Amino acid sequence: MLNDTIAAISTALQDGAISVIRISGPDSLAIAGRLFSRRVDDQPTHTVRYGYIIDPISKEAVDEVLLTVFRAPKTFTREDVVEISGHGGRYITRRILALVLAEGARLADPGEFTRRAFLNGRIDLTQAEAVMDMIDADSSQQAQLAIQGIRGSIRRLIEPLSEALLNIIANIEVNIDYPEYEDAEQLTWESVLPQARSWLIRMDEILQRAESGRIMKKGVKTVILGKPNVGKSSLLNALLEEDKAIVTEIAGTTRDLVEGEIHLRNVTLHLIDTAGIHQTEDRVEQIGIERSMKALEEAELILIVLDASRPQDDEDRRLLDLTEGRNRIVVINKKDLAPQAEDRSGTISICAAQNQIEPLIDQINQRYEHHHAMLELPSLANERQIALARQARQSMAQAVNALQDGAELDLVTIDLQAAYMALKEIVGEASREDLLDALFSKFCLGK
Ligand code: GDP
Ligand code: ZN
Repeated sequence: MLNDTIAAISTALQDGAISVIRISGPDSLAIAGRLFSRRVDDQPTHTVRYGYIIDPISKEAVDEVLLTVFRAPKTFTREDVVEISGHGGRYITRRILALVLAEGARLADPGEFTRRAFLNGRIDLTQAEAVMDMIDADSSQQAQLAIQGIRGSIRRLIEPLSEALLNIIANIEVNIDYPEYEDAEQLTWESVLPQARSWLIRMDEILQRAESGRIMKKGVKTVILGKPNVGKSSLLNALLEEDKAIVTEIAGTTRDLVEGEIHLRNVTLHLIDTAGIHQTEDRVEQIGIERSMKALEEAELILIVLDASRPQDDEDRRLLDLTEGRNRIVVINKKDLAPQAEDRSGTISICAAQNQIEPLIDQINQRYEHHHAMLELPSLANERQIALARQARQSMAQAVNALQDGAELDLVTIDLQAAYMALKEIVGEASREDLLDALFSKFCLGK
């Protein structure tokens, strides 16, 4: 139902200084006119009038208000919108809303104004999502991402690619259906391949940036790994700057996982101290070890701790082998016990017991610097958008492979269309009709 008129209290319902009741739909001005002490029908768009809300039955003045008129189409919903700003008490705000509903408006569902803005084409789906993200944002980073989304940055990220795809798709179709049509360039796989490759590169950039955004929003699952007694719990404590983990001199005491969260300059870490992963007969310890292995599988960053005061043994080497190729930092602890030991390349020396862990903190910040810098750039905002972008990328990759094999263009166009549809779905505009409309508007062949 898009042609009824909806109303809701748009500000938080509390005894504040001002509250706003928003009305949207074809009857907005008429409804407001029946309740306002002044005329509304002649009020110019985007202007404010001062007056009173009058109960149409009792004729009593209900509140002193400012009434703003926004005439379609340049409004949030693209419909006629009236906003009544009254004194912010709960009672009076509800009373005005009740009058508006009694005059024929329907109470809006949650998010319905934004939904109408989307359905009426005022904003795309990514902008609608960003409005919700903004309301939910509880950090400056999340708000920063949301305002970019509201301003349409995701559309601008996607649109050049979908436009380029559409051009090629349209051109291929015209080549096939109207081979003698001269205004259309005659495409070959050689002429399409370089473009398709460049889209793939661009898509990878967009996906990498989205990954950075995801990391910045959610933080990094970090596991501290090492055999018993090397100083894992001490390191966790130093990192947390509190005593959440138990530090003891008996090997194998950290039987369960101990967790904590730290906010570094460039990244948030969700830390897990694992029970030392080693062979043991102790049943309780074995359970801890199993959990550690699972945490290790899911880890996005691994801090391997070695003991500077002892030579590396088979167990150390086993852990190093186990994490080969993963995102890890090799940390040599108890540097105080081996003062003359040289820093081995690719390792970081610390003294966890004395909270001397700055080199490690620096290394972690460095590793995430580039993700942090990505926050400045427009990026996909959520899993829905990222999943569709991955789908688009996969279809593009298939197209590139087919083109490299010299496939017929009419076969490749299926992949190109799939990529196009996935991209358009990101902004909420994908349908077979859209594609056809777009195709037909590109080439007016008079058929
Ligand atoms: P975990 O079993 O790996 O968690 O090791 P712990 O953190 O429980 O530490 C084991 C022992 O090593 C404790 O006695 C700590 O005080 C000691 N330790 C930890 N870090 C250091 C360090 O940097 N220097 C020295 N000398 N001892 C340390
Ligand atoms: Zn421990």
